[in-house]
Amino acid sequence: MTEEIRKLADMIRASENIVFFGGAGVSTESGIPDFRSAKGIYSEKWKRDLSPEEIISHSFYERHPEEFWEFYKDKLCYPEAEPNDCHKALAKLEEMGKVKAVVTQNIDGLHQKAGSKKVYELHGSVLRNYCTLCKKFFTLEEVLSAPGVPVCDRCKMPIKPDVVLYEEPLNDDVTEKAIRAISKADMLIIGGTSLVVYPAAGLIRYFRGERLVLVNKSRTQADASADLVIHEPIGEVFREVMSLL
Ligand code: ZN
Repeated sequence: MTEEIRKLADMIRASENIVFFGGAGVSTESGIPDFRSAKGIYSEKWKRDLSPEEIISHSFYERHPEEFWEFYKDKLCYPEAEPNDCHKALAKLEEMGKVKAVVTQNIDGLHQKAGSKKVYELHGSVLRNYCTLCKKFFTLEEVLSAPGVPVCDRCKMPIKPDVVLYEEPLNDDVTEKAIRAISKADMLIIGGTSLVVYPAAGLIRYFRGERLVLVNKSRTQADASADLVIHEPIGEVFREVMSLL
């Protein structure tokens, strides 16, 4: 891996406007598994296992809030998780003026916890929750400590996490800012994503820069078009590259 790391360090040195685009693989080293790999839950009513994609959907949230919240609290919320070396390196690179934005498909808030300022969360964040009626804000801890379906203490209406569920559109403002950042970048590092989740994965088409890097454990469809491909754990990659910068 040393040769690849050296090349990555050279590319970072040569760049002034780096954007990082990350997915679930960025947080696995912080102990957060990709929820799509979760088993789902068995439904007594339908006598079958429901897939994570079915449960984390808008219609399921509306029709079966108890089961939605049971799965959501158990499989999508990790209040104890800490940033790993990838999150920390990106925050440091932003401080150094290299990284201009982090675009993430993750909803764990770990980039901000590591110190990153410019973070575009395409799928929202479990750290933000709002009453569906009065829009009062609730923390993740408040939501997790509520039994069953969390409700607003003011109006008794259900609380909804600020997370983009399946069947829901992405936030236009966040998407536009992410596209603008990617289209202005001279280097794009894509990490921890298999690039299969659309429309988020389509955002990388806006990249017009010179250096495209992919860091992912397994092969992706974009490998062939990248200037550098590293199939190693992303935390390790960033820890090593930072020691060279
Ligand atoms: Zn309320």
